[in-house]
Amino acid sequence: MNVQERFLHYVSFDTQSDASSLTAPSTEKQWVLAKELVKECQDMGFDEVCLSEYGIVYAALEANDPNCPSLGFCAHMDTASELSGANIHPWILSHYDGQDITYPDGSLCSVQEYPSFLRCIGEDLILTDGTTLLGGDDKAGIAIILTAVEEVIRSNQRHGKIVVAFTPDEEIGRGVDHFDLDRFAVDYAYTVDGGRVDAVNYENFNAAMAQITIQGTSIHPGDAKDKMVNASLLAGEWIQKMPKNQTPAHTEKRQGFYHLLEMSGTCEEASLTYLLRHHDQKKFMAQKDFMHTLCETMNQKYPNRFAVHIQDQYLNMKDLMKDKKAVQRAQRAIKACGLKPVSIPTRGGTDGAMLTEKGCTCPNLGTGSYNHHGRFEFCSIQQMEKMVDIVQTLIKLS
Ligand SMILES: [Zn+2]
Repeated sequence: MNVQERFLHYVSFDTQSDASSLTAPSTEKQWVLAKELVKECQDMGFDEVCLSEYGIVYAALEANDPNCPSLGFCAHMDTASELSGANIHPWILSHYDGQDITYPDGSLCSVQEYPSFLRCIGEDLILTDGTTLLGGDDKAGIAIILTAVEEVIRSNQRHGKIVVAFTPDEEIGRGVDHFDLDRFAVDYAYTVDGGRVDAVNYENFNAAMAQITIQGTSIHPGDAKDKMVNASLLAGEWIQKMPKNQTPAHTEKRQGFYHLLEMSGTCEEASLTYLLRHHDQKKFMAQKDFMHTLCETMNQKYPNRFAVHIQDQYLNMKDLMKDKKAVQRAQRAIKACGLKPVSIPTRGGTDGAMLTEKGCTCPNLGTGSYNHHGRFEFCSIQQMEKMVDIVQTLIKLS
């Protein structure tokens, strides 16, 4: 199968993860793709294929030249919770001309709003029908990795040990919770979970989630004078005190933000969930301090009404990497494939960030898919093919 066929096959599986689930993987349906990938890896000729009790697929191909370094590639099977990943109806737009795109349901996608389309002029794009996400994040990564390894096996090129891993639940931050690093003991490891194919990304956010709970006092509204304390109104007051221009919609590049992810409330009780994100470690700590200080301030005005609980999620890989050898190696492969490598700070996190935290330096490569987590997600067939070349070249480098 070529990379396009593989990709179209994988996106026919609904693999959405679910943060509210307590199981691993978080959804039963991720097992279906996991088992499919196990079968495919076995058929392709991997020497050892394993599906862990937590739904992680590992496959290893032994070296045919002991002088070549060992390499690991990781991609995730699940799709984001923002939009359905079921019943995806992909269609191909050939020789994209750079104009706004009309979807089958009649909606129009403006390239001014979604400029990543302009990176793909003249190429063949795989798009959604405008009602679901596509799943390029990260089924394009899986398709690229397996197509490249298949090509390595077919061409009998020299290679070191190659290990691939496909994880569930990356989108809900649990991709490597049960990851077996012993199975992934390689010289150079990569996630294939980005956008641009010329990019090697090794900077990501420091990330935490802040949960604010607010206790109100509920009483019949008719008898409420000087007694009722409406928790939902207090939640509104909290929101008003947050920095107005530090939201995802106001920030870019290395600017951090506070993202109000969820709010719920009655008179009796309310809660707010914020994501805190910053590339800079000091500023990230200041974000956490800000939440604690605001909680104290609010409690001074409304005693014992507010509580904040902050949970760390992941750290910036750049601060944790032992060295940049894996990055430099990927840059060499990109150059060898005729592109000028770039490194763009990721405004998110990857499994690789958490693997790096566990001691396995793991920068992120592109997939040629863009506009992730939304209905205008798409991938370029030529860029996926380019990524297959890049991964294959990376395996070939001595
Ligand atoms: Zn992803």
